[in-house]
Amino acid sequence: MTALQNSENVDRLVVDNAVIGIALSGRDGKWIRVNRALGAMLGYTEAELLELNFTKITQADDVVIDQESLQKLRAGEVTSFTHEKRYIHKDGHLFWVRVHVAGVYDSDGVLTHHSTQVVDISRTYELEQEARLYSERLHNVIEGTDAGTWEWDCVTGDIVINDRWAEIVGYTRDELEPTTVETWKRLIHPDDLIHAMELLDRHFDGDLHAYDLEVRMQHKEGHWVWVHNRGKLFERSDQGRPLRVAGTHIDITQRKRDEAALLAANNALVKSNRDLEQFAYVASHDLQEPLRMVASFTKLLSRNYADELDDKAREYINFAADGAQRMQQLIKDLLSYSRIGQGYVDDEAVDLNLVQERVVRSLQLSNGNAAAEIYCGPLPVVHGDPGQLQQLLHNLVANAIKYRGDKPIEVTIGTDQRNAEMVFFVRDNGIGIDPENFERIFEIFQRLHARSEYAGTGIGLAICKRIVERHGGRIWVESALGEGATFFFTLHPDRFGTLESTSSDDRSAA
Ligand code: ADP
Repeated sequence: MTALQNSENVDRLVVDNAVIGIALSGRDGKWIRVNRALGAMLGYTEAELLELNFTKITQADDVVIDQESLQKLRAGEVTSFTHEKRYIHKDGHLFWVRVHVAGVYDSDGVLTHHSTQVVDISRTYELEQEARLYSERLHNVIEGTDAGTWEWDCVTGDIVINDRWAEIVGYTRDELEPTTVETWKRLIHPDDLIHAMELLDRHFDGDLHAYDLEVRMQHKEGHWVWVHNRGKLFERSDQGRPLRVAGTHIDITQRKRDEAALLAANNALVKSNRDLEQFAYVASHDLQEPLRMVASFTKLLSRNYADELDDKAREYINFAADGAQRMQQLIKDLLSYSRIGQGYVDDEAVDLNLVQERVVRSLQLSNGNAAAEIYCGPLPVVHGDPGQLQQLLHNLVANAIKYRGDKPIEVTIGTDQRNAEMVFFVRDNGIGIDPENFERIFEIFQRLHARSEYAGTGIGLAICKRIVERHGGRIWVESALGEGATFFFTLHPDRFGTLESTSSDDRSAA
């Protein structure tokens, strides 16, 4: 205790136990005393440090600043200085320190020593660097997304915006000063304001995770621009009152324009399609009646006047009757084709296994098909129009039988997974299709064969395509001439109920 009463000893203890680096150096810059903390900071013992000059432990680039400042101290221009510089640790790594150097003067005011205090600020410096980097990144993201930003102080009503926010509505930031919530309310379309306030309230109440909507804002030149406005409350008072909200404005005017143009084009297309279907329906419907007359009168003619006509005349009448009959079939097909486009798809759960059984039974009952071997793997339950789905399978299986080759007919119905999508298929071992006709066969009234070879009007696949598309899917064929054909189709993923086991290997004779 007595030692402590000696003030020099007290000073020594204070210096030795200080947590910052402390040193005393002569006018020449050579250290006379250093404390433990400085040694620890630099990785030297105190004895080692005393052998060193500050220039030895200062990063080369920073020595100049030190020397300039010391010059001023010696010249009496300053009595102390502070600056930040990099020290070199004994192990070679650099670290940032804040150095405060003060002159020590004798009783005549002559500079005799320098006292130095050193604080390790490497952690602070790192944090500053991180903050700078973070703000740089944030800045890049905001620039990159062309986002207007806003921060709203709910208590004062003040809003801090960036340049882009103002630019979207045709102003500079200065022109909108003072920017408050009133500025925003003035610019937003009155109808959208109501909705925006509702959403904000719901977000504040915790009903909505974020505030997100598209609004119109009035441009300086008077027209309206579309803005996607998103934000989030990020600070509440202890009582739960909203304090600060921040978010972005993205100009979506062009997107809105494109959407409107697309919608208009789509509406026009839907209307023109509907008109066409209506036309086809009415035309074919109205054609049936006069055609029925032609057919029945040619029939009457050949039945009642056969004896009075010569062979040539009878042949002509047969041609006329055949033509009328074909035209009736065409009209019937056209009618059923246009009917698929009418109204909405009936949406029911349809067990395709039952549909397939019905199709196979009805086809095997028709003349000449009894010999067809039809295999079918388990099929899923889907949501769709039962009548249309039956027609789809019917047309595909009927073609598989009709376009048979020389071999005994074999047809397989099943499903497969392709790129995580369920694909239905109907495979046959018939005459096959030349790949150059893959597209054509799905067009209405397109056939690859003469009527004398295979009966038909060329509408079956066009109907299949229409049905599949109405159920959100695609249809296509894979084949080669003489090697059978496989027709594939998909349905929209939402149309599948529970996906049951659908392995196509599980063959079971129908
Ligand atoms: P249609 O059978 O009345 O001619 P489709 O629209 O059903 O009309 O078929 C169009 C054409 O596609 C047929 O004329 C035929 O040439 C070809 N085609 C359809 N299915 C098959 C099949 N399974 N095998 C070979 N060719 C086929």
